[in-house]
Amino acid sequence: MTFDYDLFVIGGGSGGVRAARVASGEYGAKVGLAEESRMGGTCVIRGCVPKKLMVYASGFAGIFEEARAYGWQVDGGAFDWQAFRTRLEAELDRLEGAYRNTLKNAGVIVHDERATLVDAHRVRLASGQEFTAKHILIATGGRPFVPEIPGAELAVTSNEMFHLDQLPRRALVVGGGYIASEFACILKGLGVEVSQYYRGAQILRGFDDEARGHVSNAMRAGGIDIHCGTDVMRLEKTAAGIRAVATDGTDREFDLVMYATGRRPNTEGLGLEALGVGLGREGQILVDRYSQTGVPSIFAVGDVTGRINLTPVAIREGHAFADTIFGAKPTAFDHELVASAVFTQPELGSVGLSEEAARAEGPIEVYSTAFRPMRSAFAGQQDRVLMKLIVSKATRRVLGCHIVAPEAGEMIQLAAIAIRMGATKEDFDRTCAVHPTMAEELVTMRKPVRTA
Ligand code: NDP
Repeated sequence: MTFDYDLFVIGGGSGGVRAARVASGEYGAKVGLAEESRMGGTCVIRGCVPKKLMVYASGFAGIFEEARAYGWQVDGGAFDWQAFRTRLEAELDRLEGAYRNTLKNAGVIVHDERATLVDAHRVRLASGQEFTAKHILIATGGRPFVPEIPGAELAVTSNEMFHLDQLPRRALVVGGGYIASEFACILKGLGVEVSQYYRGAQILRGFDDEARGHVSNAMRAGGIDIHCGTDVMRLEKTAAGIRAVATDGTDREFDLVMYATGRRPNTEGLGLEALGVGLGREGQILVDRYSQTGVPSIFAVGDVTGRINLTPVAIREGHAFADTIFGAKPTAFDHELVASAVFTQPELGSVGLSEEAARAEGPIEVYSTAFRPMRSAFAGQQDRVLMKLIVSKATRRVLGCHIVAPEAGEMIQLAAIAIRMGATKEDFDRTCAVHPTMAEELVTMRKPVRTA
């Protein structure tokens, strides 16, 4: 049987674009790709990229303050949201164009419309056009989830945060994960009064407890009003804003309420159930280690599979899929030891096991130090950074590294290489320090603070 395409990709985000580019550009497959929204997906258009630019924008308030302590005569200045937003939009247009060019140069045929599945080898575009494909890759990503509470429609999600007409004076962020914690810090840095309500006992569940505590203390010290054990029962429109009635008995008014209570895979209405593609409890597509679904011609990568919802993971899954199917190199991306960073202020960089998870697996030593970094100590600020290593007593391997510090994301990337290579605590000890840096503490901690 001949097909219109060797591969049809649904979704032009990180995973889909990488798979399409490699399959077509490197392996010569005939590839079509459908995207119903803007090319680049969540990461480029409404996620990592605009978020990081907002993190940069929000960091300047602290920099101005520090600069004065270092002898610079600078005024704090006022933040011009509209000016920033205009530049941000231009940058996203540029990046979207770059993604389109990449696909074009690789020979991928792009269809700017929604596609759904008709059968195991056939897709239908919103315009009614149908194509057959030997392989179909679903890379439709995810979308924000907002719980069904009365007044939920008054809240925004991270999707809307990049398009606000103006910055609010008082904002409530609901949730305690990556997105909620990052946006709480961004808004605070931009001069907004921020409250964060989280239903659990401590924000950033899943990360190392000591690191979570450190981030949350720093956020509180920075002026964010964090309420743990608190959830919103209902939202009501008021003359001046939105009233949030919470489980802790409070009833407060805000100008903006942002929900960041997780994301859900975009699998609805694709026609998957009818084809027998298995879906998990949250609607995620179930795949094997080669990203293959139960229907042999249909594959899925990225957030829609709900494995680890991070851009670099989607990219690696998409690349591995293309290598496997079109490059005759069976490749399964290894989801172990994936480092990540939460771009709070200060950042949290993390790789490997938390102290709590490691303790459950066997005897460990914990090396941890918290100190005032030179730069902010000189400026008279109280911030402290945290450097932490979890070491297996049996193998001496470093099982986890957790850093809370400015630029922790940059540091953890490098620590992740050593840990991925199986570095032992003694390998860290043998490595000579780079002085004066914050990261040198990672190779100079000699005595465990505790064993377990
Ligand atoms: P997370 O899963 O990280 O956090 C969701 C938060 O919402 C948790 O605190 C959760 O609480 C809470 N929550 C969930 N359901 C409800 C509910 N019904 N009512 C009240 N609270 C609720 O999701 P995010 O939306 O923050 O981010 C989604 C994913 O995107 C992340 O997991 C991450 O993989 C990725 N991401 C990565 C970033 C990075 O690498 N820097 C940045 C942004 C996103 P509980 O803990 O109790 O379950």
